[in-house]
Amino acid sequence: MPSNAKGVYTLIRGGSLLDGSGAPPLPGELLIGDGIIADIQPPGGIAPPEGAEIVEANGHLVTPGFIDAHCHGDPVKTPAFENYTAMGVTALCLGQDGRSPSEGTLASWAEEVHAAKPAPNLIPFVGHGTLRNHAGIGYSPDPTPEQIDKIGKLAAEAMEEGYFGLTSGLEYVPGRVAPFEELRILARETGRAGRLVMSHIRSEDDQLIEDALDELVEQGRQGQCHVHVSHMKVTLGRGAVRAEELLARLDKARAEGVRVTGDIYPYNASCTTIGILFPGWAKTREDFEKALPARREEMAEYLRYRVGRRNGPEAVLLGASKWKGQTLKEAAANAGKSFEDFLIDDVGPDGTYAAYFAMDEELQARLMQDPHNVFSSDGSPEWFHPRGFGTFARLIEHYVRERKLFTLEDAIHRMTGATADTIGLAGRGYLRAGHAADILVFDPARVHEAASYTEPHRLAEGFDWVFVNGRPIRREGKLTEERPGRVLTRT
Ligand SMILES: [Zn+2]
Repeated sequence: MPSNAKGVYTLIRGGSLLDGSGAPPLPGELLIGDGIIADIQPPGGIAPPEGAEIVEANGHLVTPGFIDAHCHGDPVKTPAFENYTAMGVTALCLGQDGRSPSEGTLASWAEEVHAAKPAPNLIPFVGHGTLRNHAGIGYSPDPTPEQIDKIGKLAAEAMEEGYFGLTSGLEYVPGRVAPFEELRILARETGRAGRLVMSHIRSEDDQLIEDALDELVEQGRQGQCHVHVSHMKVTLGRGAVRAEELLARLDKARAEGVRVTGDIYPYNASCTTIGILFPGWAKTREDFEKALPARREEMAEYLRYRVGRRNGPEAVLLGASKWKGQTLKEAAANAGKSFEDFLIDDVGPDGTYAAYFAMDEELQARLMQDPHNVFSSDGSPEWFHPRGFGTFARLIEHYVRERKLFTLEDAIHRMTGATADTIGLAGRGYLRAGHAADILVFDPARVHEAASYTEPHRLAEGFDWVFVNGRPIRREGKLTEERPGRVLTRT
């Protein structure tokens, strides 16, 4: 430690250090000073500097703060993000599924966010859909060569601004209409800057997922770019063998030289806009209203088919305030209508978001074991789904402790160091001297997911101390006034 180091020190001693590399925990102590990890030593190896705060961590683990690889929310609106920090998340990857965190420049957004004083750090990605608007392509399925050139230049500029990569949402508008050539150019520009393309792939349905994965791999191959599958899942697929098939497909791509990674959340219900159920020609309010007079019967038939294939209206839990906590089946019955008429008359493609119970436990569990998949919540402080409040606690409580699906050190690795490596985040994700002091102190036996599908907004329990940039945003299990988070950029 430099002798002229100033500022506030914290010594965390008496605990076991789990360093984020996947190695098992070792007894040790750690000194925080000036926002970084100033020193790490075996027990008794650090003399506390004068005035240092001492955290007695006996019986506790000391780990790097968790990095949520895919999540949602507006740090200007909810800067404390207690839903995330209460489950140990100290950095959020924002700008997902093709939408940038803001319409303006990264610098102007960072300024706005810093004025709001966020508690966790924010890791920004630029969105394909947002760039489409800026390039004048909008919702067009056939951009001109000039427009494709333009969007490529915008992606390159975004990487220079410091975004960690580009996201796409190919199951949504406008991503779903983008031609491959556009995606190839975007991957090329992102790859040139050494960043990654994170993608909500074109389909997560069991029958279409191979094509969707192949399309992403092809972007990686032709664009010479690291590609990443967001919130990996198979809607209506069944069994561990099905997971093995898909993992083998990605392993083959890796063997051929394409870098492919993914992230995954530990729930068997997805959560997204109700538009996911509507046909391609009626996914926006405008298209929906245009199509309605002439194609109502066709739309109803499509909705019947699509909802039926996704386990029926009882497997759709509505989230908008008017219907909160009701299934599509119940809400339609209350309105005295068939579910398809209810969706057309009362909801529309933008009328609510919902949880969809359409995933298989054994299949998802096998995907969760894959070392190439890091963990994410795909959560939000607002949505009616427990993942935004429970994910990281659930992984430890349910999948490590109860089911023993993977070891604690593996789980922590894929919440910290592996995630930092995947997204190209330097200087965080590991307990190492000189790294930023994003640190947790907790007893894994006491970690508890309090949120559920019916009570999704209950904070996780058990994360006693949460440090961000060296400051405690949670102290002995309680939120503090500290807001040390920052927008991180990649240079
Ligand atoms: Zn998504």
